[in-house]
Amino acid sequence: MPKVYFVVPCYNEEEVLNETVKRLTEKLTKLIAAGKADETSRMLFVDDGSKDRTWEIIQEKSAENKYVGGVKLSRNRGHQNALLSGLMTAKDNCCDCVISLDADLQDDIEVIDEFIEKYMDGCEVVYGVRNSRKKDTFFKRTTAQGYYKFMKALGVDIVYNHADYRLLGSRALDALSEYKEVNLFLRGIVPLIGYRSDYVYYERNERFAGESKYPLKKMLKFAFDGITSFSVKPLKIITNVGIIMCVLSFIGFIYAIVSLILGIATAGWTSLLCSIWFIGGLEMLCIGIVGSYVGKIYSEVKQRPRYRIETTIINEEKTDNNKKEKKQKD
Ligand code: UDP
Ligand code: MG
Repeated sequence: MPKVYFVVPCYNEEEVLNETVKRLTEKLTKLIAAGKADETSRMLFVDDGSKDRTWEIIQEKSAENKYVGGVKLSRNRGHQNALLSGLMTAKDNCCDCVISLDADLQDDIEVIDEFIEKYMDGCEVVYGVRNSRKKDTFFKRTTAQGYYKFMKALGVDIVYNHADYRLLGSRALDALSEYKEVNLFLRGIVPLIGYRSDYVYYERNERFAGESKYPLKKMLKFAFDGITSFSVKPLKIITNVGIIMCVLSFIGFIYAIVSLILGIATAGWTSLLCSIWFIGGLEMLCIGIVGSYVGKIYSEVKQRPRYRIETTIINEEKTDNNKKEKKQKD
């Protein structure tokens, strides 16, 4: 039976956490009773530097429920880093597989059985894929689906309608730990790992309580990160646009000379002004895109740690409810 870990990143999730712990505990105990998961399986809640009572709730729950464990990050590092810290903690605790899911119960936990069945069939990676996006707003649905298509067009291998609800086996986790990049975009990295994989389809629910921790600004940054971390095509597009502009301006130049010779040249103030502005704008745009890649190289080169764990709580099986608290210091 596999030792399964659920990894749940939480940022200011006090409103949903009690319910999430309750439902996941029910799920885990059912899995254990059915012989689908080992008794040493655990849930790991990562507190991503929350400002509310999230960590206190995790501590309380871990004291009364042996299945609950927690990881507290020293500050808010964002969803992807929080998730990674949880995955690596699970890996260090020798689990067989990890299922990552959101704290807000948007991912249907009833399909967890299918995840584990596919793992037992030999899959190292199982992707949770949304059946439909009926419950998303029109804006979120169209932008998200357009984004997946755009990424595909740029040559990035990502799974359509899959977010971060997935199962990773221990070999996939080992492989993931070798990706050292700071600009994390896990749904782009996981397909690069390889191994046998499969999909599980589910219906995405609405948030149980509280509001989204991904405001538009964070979402745009995440989307842009995904593109610039996995594709150099924008740089190539810039080069092509530059070539086309040069050809066009050359044709314009010939036209201007010919008109001058024929004596039909007029004071082309408007066209001149327009083209100067247009080319100026285009250049700035191109420099901006190149700059964002340079900026990425800058942050990758520094190799700053992606997260720092302040405290870890795991209730070990042998000592039962004996809480193990490990404080990491520099
Ligand atoms: N989250 C996090 N750190 C952040 C932002 C979000 O750990 O800085 C977690 C959040 O608690 C949730 C998950 O990431 O478990 C997904 O966030 P959310 O549900 O707000 O995003 P949405 O579903 O609206 O895209
Ligand atoms: Mg959500």
